[in-house]
Formats: sequence, C-alpha cells, structure tokens
Amino acid sequence: MDLRLKDQVFLVTGGIKGIGKGIVLSLAGEGAIPVILDRNDLPDDYRTELDNLGATYEVISIDLNDTDKIAPIVNNVHQKYGRINGIVNNAGTNDNRDLETTTWQEFEQSIHGNLTHYYELVHASVGFLKESQGAVLNIGSKTALTGQGKTSAYAAAKGAVLGLTREWAAALAADEVRVNAIVVAEAWTPLYQKWIQSFGDENEQEARLQSITQNIPLGQRMTTVEEIGDTAAFLLSSRSSHTTGQFVFVDGGYVHLDRALTIE
Ligand code: NAP
Repeated sequence: MDLRLKDQVFLVTGGIKGIGKGIVLSLAGEGAIPVILDRNDLPDDYRTELDNLGATYEVISIDLNDTDKIAPIVNNVHQKYGRINGIVNNAGTNDNRDLETTTWQEFEQSIHGNLTHYYELVHASVGFLKESQGAVLNIGSKTALTGQGKTSAYAAAKGAVLGLTREWAAALAADEVRVNAIVVAEAWTPLYQKWIQSFGDENEQEARLQSITQNIPLGQRMTTVEEIGDTAAFLLSSRSSHTTGQFVFVDGGYVHLDRALTIE
C-alpha cells in the first residue's frame, strides 16, 4: 500500500535514537521529510541509512526542556518547507521518580521533561496542522494504565499524554486534524538497555529480560522499533483518515491479553 506520504513534512522529537529513529526511518522510507528535534547529533551510520533511502531530512538540535525554543523552530520549519503535515511527540525518559523519595519539585521537573514539550509542540503547530489537515501522534507508555510501582512522575506524564490525545482529537476534529497515540510496553532501545543494565551483571540482566519477555503473549519477545515505526507511518498517513482519538497498543498483547496465556 502506498501511504501517500511523499514530500510530507513531519516533526519528530527524539528521532535520533530508539523508537523515534524507527519512526523517522519508516517515514523516510515512504518518501516523507522527517525533521528531527533531538539534543544529540546524527551519527554517521544513521546518516548513511537515510541517504541510502534517498531521503530528504533535517536534524535540529534542541533540548526540549527549553520550551521557549520550540515555537521559533516550528515557525522556521513551516517557512522553509511551506507546510507541516504532522507531529510526532516521542522524546521522553522513564526517570523512576518514586512516590516515597521524590519531592514535588522533582516531580514537577520530571513532568516538565516528559509532558510540557508535547503540549508546546502541538500548541505552536496547531495553525499549520489545520492548514494541512495534518496528524498528531503521541507516544505513550503502558505505565499510564498498568503502573510500574516506582515511577510516579513518568506514569503521571504518560497518563496526561493519553488525556491530551483524546482532548486534542476532540478539539481538532472539526478541522480534520487527527490525533492518536501509540502505547508502547517493552521495546528494545538505548533507553531500555540502560534500564536493564541497572539490574546488575550480564546474567542478572539476562534473567530480568527473560522474566519480562516471557509475559509478552505474541512471540515472547520485545517489540521492535521498526514495528512501532510502521504503525506510526500508517497513523500519520491519510490511509488512516477516519481514525482519531485512538490509543493503539503496539505491544504484542502485553497490556490486554490474559496473563495465563504465558503459563504452559
Ligand atoms: P531513547 O532510546 O532514549 O531515545 C529517545 C531519544 O530522545 C534520545 O535521542 C534522547 O536523547 C532524546 N531525548 C529525550 N529527551 C529529550 C529532550 N528533553 N530534548 C531532546 N531530546 C531528548 O528512548 P526510547 O526508549 O526510544 O523512548 C521513546 C519514547 O517511548 C519515550 O517517550 C518513552 O517514554 C516511550 N516508551 C518507551 C518504551 C520502551 O520500552 N523503550 C516503553 C514505553 C514508552 P538522550 O539519549 O540524550 O536522552
């Protein structure tokens, strides 16, 4: 299926690594123009991958915690390309700010890093999205629905991401701007690798990974960033033209299917 994304311009936060990279490569593979907003530079092998796809792309260096810098970037991108067809709010970090030891100041700081730039990027782009009848895709987390036990601030931010997905879908339906979320459970990314490494030596990491993947119904394996990228490209495309306000779980059935499935 041709997703009809050729030459469409998408802003993708956190597009240098992990899930964001998966989304950028899927969009580029469809002939879209990904504009990456990230605090890291583009590594050479990634540049080669994009060049091999014949992609037009751009990397804009920004720490998204610097919220005031977002609107000028959006305006510059619109001025340069003459359109913005979609937004992918993806950058974020599960920073394990737990209930017992986290001060409200630390809580607020974490919310700022995981939520405020989601709002500001869409706030700054909304006029351009109405112009293009574009799409917004928010990357969420299972923690908003299942909890994780030690991550109050992140779970709160990701809960708000789902709330904003519904709110923006309602606010923008009359303008034909669609807003959806992909909910991720366990995807192998640099962030995830860092988290697994916190469990100890290689054997301990392997044991932890095994205990997680055995509970993922579809294939007892992690979700790949390519699987998330391909779903993202579809949701951003006009091929999903009557889908809005939805939470799409790209998680191998982890959140919704019967846990007993994995017990033989
Ligand atoms: P990742 O491997 O760390 O990649 C995220 C990218 O975003 C990195 O390049 C990161 O830079 C960048 N970034 C983060 N905060 C930024 C900021 N304030 N300004 C600019 N760039 C920033 O993470 P990931 O695992 O792909 O996660 C992507 C999204 O999926 C997040 O919202 C996360 O909560 C969500 N998610 C992931 C999983 C999973 O299993 N991986 C599960 C549920 C939800 P640095 O490396 O410098 O931080």
